[in-house]
Amino acid sequence: MRIVTWGFGAMGRGIAKNIIESKFMKLVGVIDKNPEFIGKDVGELLGLGNYGVRVRDSIDVIEETNPDLVVIATSSFVKDVLPQIEYAVKNHANVITIAEEMAFPFDSHPEESLYMDSLAKRYGVTILGTGVNPGFVLDTLIIALTGVCTRVGRIVAKRINDLSPFGKTVMETQGVGTTPQQFEEGLKKGTIVGHIGFPQSIAMIARALGWNITKIEEERKPIVSNVHRETPVVKVEPGMVAGCNHSAKAYVGDKCVIELYHPQQIHPHLEGVETGDYIEIYGDININLSIKPEIPGGKATIAIATNMIPIVISAQPGLKCMADLPVPRSILSFTR
Ligand code: NAD
Repeated sequence: MRIVTWGFGAMGRGIAKNIIESKFMKLVGVIDKNPEFIGKDVGELLGLGNYGVRVRDSIDVIEETNPDLVVIATSSFVKDVLPQIEYAVKNHANVITIAEEMAFPFDSHPEESLYMDSLAKRYGVTILGTGVNPGFVLDTLIIALTGVCTRVGRIVAKRINDLSPFGKTVMETQGVGTTPQQFEEGLKKGTIVGHIGFPQSIAMIARALGWNITKIEEERKPIVSNVHRETPVVKVEPGMVAGCNHSAKAYVGDKCVIELYHPQQIHPHLEGVETGDYIEIYGDININLSIKPEIPGGKATIAIATNMIPIVISAQPGLKCMADLPVPRSILSFTR
């Protein structure tokens, strides 16, 4: 399988490394606009020695290398990745993207979804949005757990995670390092957004269960630190914001059927907060899943984007979500 990665940031680099190290995939091209990477050998940048593929800031890479699939890890938003997806598809390449809004764009971006679906079908390829969340913990995993229930009445899930490994962009969109007043102003201006993906996760669960969601309420609150916290990219003094406590509730009529909680902060352990992923399903049977500590976000996103490659290549053409495709599984450990 010939693969191009578009975006050589924290996630793209990990995916590229997985592809190089796999026995059945070949990394044939890497696109990134960061001058730090352009012209350099991908293997050298990954500390693997010379690999013979250089990072280029040119979309021509796709036409020249004719890949089976392009992994896009450049942005969170449909508006940014749509032109990239379009270019890859028009060159007959399947696409996996980790853009959060692409995990389930059908409700949030109906026109763009229709266009991507018809384009993919015309070119005989598949487009998938995935990632740890959205893409797995607060949607795919929940849907899979409902498979052992006859009836489901209500779902409550929490992902309590540590933001410390992430870069500057994530700190800014989560409001880490601001004062509570700056946090409120950022929310109003739209520069602080918290988690990107609640509407997508909710819509994916609702479609799987045939629920007609009538209202979604989201709430973003600052997590104000009582202690000094610090990462390589941000410093938080007592009284400042260490993260965003973002939650969403989805209703069918007056009944709240889905509650998702995603408090994200740097160094939660400094105030005794343990990370974890928790899913409660209430119905004919009650399920209570607890994963402690959290599934690590960066590593898991890199893994699931890699693991979905063969599944996407062999899927029916069109725009798909995780719930449309076979159960994800680890592929790099295949021995036969
Ligand atoms: P990053 O900022 O480290 O890397 C992004 C890379 O893309 C950078 O190297 C940048 O130069 C490159 N880039 C951006 N636009 C480009 C363009 N038009 N052409 C060429 N290169 C371009 O970010 P990351 O941590 O690797 O994450 C990538 C995206 O995936 C982010 O938007 C992030 O929010 C999202 N993400 C989603 C999930 C999920 O669970 N769905 C998980 C992790 C990250």
